[in-house]
Amino acid sequence: MSLKNADLSDAPVRCVFRVNFHFMKIGERVMEQTLILIKPDGLKKSLTGNILTRLSETKLDIVGAKMIRVGRELAEEHYKALKDESYFEELIKYIMGEYHKKKVMALIYGGEDAIQKVRDICGKTNPEEADSVSIRGAYGRITTKGVYENVIHASACSEEAEREIKLWFSPDEIIDDDIYDVKIVKETIKHKKWAE
Ligand code: UDP
Ligand code: MG
Repeated sequence: MSLKNADLSDAPVRCVFRVNFHFMKIGERVMEQTLILIKPDGLKKSLTGNILTRLSETKLDIVGAKMIRVGRELAEEHYKALKDESYFEELIKYIMGEYHKKKVMALIYGGEDAIQKVRDICGKTNPEEADSVSIRGAYGRITTKGVYENVIHASACSEEAEREIKLWFSPDEIIDDDIYDVKIVKETIKHKKWAE
């Protein structure tokens, strides 16, 4: 993210005052990647098309995309910074799809200032505080248990983007130049193939 454009007002404390070392500089442009999840409520409400249309306003590239069934281990790892929050258990059930559909759509968007551009379109964490034209402002709600069902996750800063991209994707699934170090390994693993 370029510091001139950085608006960290809605970013978690853990993101502030850190500098992004993971980017590719092409000319003067700083290329970033950011993780997006269309959360189970977004899928249940058939918002995938609307959300992708809104995200296309950023003019960023989709460089990774897949559907994932989120298990407890992945959910807890993704939200581990929030493990002491009162809403943590409800949040884990929410992202695992216990209240909607048991899947999320995971995407990586890449391009100049990708992290902040996507956060801006998502809007604030609390859907009632989010701008009504933002994705969360338009489609989110607060449950009776107090959880913000805000239909979309987006990395808040470069450290979070790196951690989250490495958690949700393997390098082979990203159709872009590697912005994090990779290694080539040869391994024999069992996996499904088409029968014929
Ligand atoms: N959340 C919540 N209540 C809160 C804060 C967060 O239910 O008071 C949920 C909400 O779904 C949010 C997620 O926890 O998207 C992660 O919280 P974070 O502070 O990281 O916000 P985000 O980065 O998603 O804007
Ligand atoms: Mg966050």
